[in-house]
Amino acid sequence: IEQERWCEGCGVTLQTEDPEGQGYMPASALKREHMICRRCYRIRHYNELAPVEQDPSATLGLLEQIAQSEALVVQVIDLFDISGSWIPGIHRHIGNNPLLILGNKVDLFPKSIKHQRLKEWVQRAAKDLGVKPVDVVLTSAVKAVRMDTVAEAIEKYREGRDVFVIGTANAGKSTLINRLLKEFGGGEEAVTTSPYPGTTLDAISIPLGDGKHIVDMPGVVRKDRMSEWVDPKELKQITPDGEVKPKVYQLSEGQTLFFGGLTRFDFVEGNRQSFVCYFANALYIHRTKLEKASEVWDRHRGELLSPPKKPESMPKMVRHTFHIKAGKKQDIVISGLGWVSMGSEKAKVDVWAPEDVRVELRSAVI
Ligand code: GDP
Repeated sequence: IEQERWCEGCGVTLQTEDPEGQGYMPASALKREHMICRRCYRIRHYNELAPVEQDPSATLGLLEQIAQSEALVVQVIDLFDISGSWIPGIHRHIGNNPLLILGNKVDLFPKSIKHQRLKEWVQRAAKDLGVKPVDVVLTSAVKAVRMDTVAEAIEKYREGRDVFVIGTANAGKSTLINRLLKEFGGGEEAVTTSPYPGTTLDAISIPLGDGKHIVDMPGVVRKDRMSEWVDPKELKQITPDGEVKPKVYQLSEGQTLFFGGLTRFDFVEGNRQSFVCYFANALYIHRTKLEKASEVWDRHRGELLSPPKKPESMPKMVRHTFHIKAGKKQDIVISGLGWVSMGSEKAKVDVWAPEDVRVELRSAVI
């Protein structure tokens, strides 16, 4: 390639020499009208992932430039994995710029839940982290929920400045930008989206018409989410793709639930009570007795209890013990997978999850 060209899908510099490297495109594809790298081509046409190592420090380095600029920062968060949606060191990256939060994937929540309540919950979570957004807008990039409000909020708060869009990988940043472009930009789909975390590589800049730009920053990879550890081919089974149907289990003390072969949930102590499970509808949940749990796990993990089909590729399982106090509804969250909502009864619960995956307790959202 004589002149520098960028992939229209992910923004990396294109090259025709090294098929294993970032931005590779076969020379024969130079004739194509839309130039995209082979990785984006495969993701678009075959839903296949060519593994390219993303350097997290390079991503964070790119974020550094935000604080030096005068801009509106738009952060896309995944409402279904809100704790896994925060970006380490975000205060530093934003600098003095205003922050607008877009709570994406609202379509995954049951229709009965009030959006105002979800919004307040996001605001509380942000406040707990010391982040002060100018506004929170709930949306669904896939279902085009409230796109007018999203566009108006961006226009209102940017006050003629550039816009940086940030988010952790898989929050739906690319889908959202594509949706905005489709509804308001008149252009065709420009940014590659895929269910594989970390697909957007370099920053992509989209002109806004007044000499300013929307800059799509690469997704920040956080390794403390289950979605990062599951084989890309199995990711579909744990990623919810529509309204999540809560599954209710009445459990007695000494019973166990398996969430595929990814998490084990032991109800160790407490009165018989209900546990409401919010996971992708496709994820298999298996109930058994705690005393048999280890045996069932060892025998069936990778088959009946899957994903993962290849358990040996996962980090080792570690135990998290929770003592739930009476009187407050709480959720036990397995980041990047889902959560179990508990009543307001006293209970002792052991959750086994791959080491590195965050498991935590929070006030109930629903
Ligand atoms: P990015 O890494 O933040 O750019 O995320 P993508 O835009 O590639 O989206 C990641 C995954 O989330 C894909 O499987 C999308 O289809 C899915 N996704 C994005 N937006 C939504 C949404 O509003 N609702 C639902 N249910 N899924 C979404």
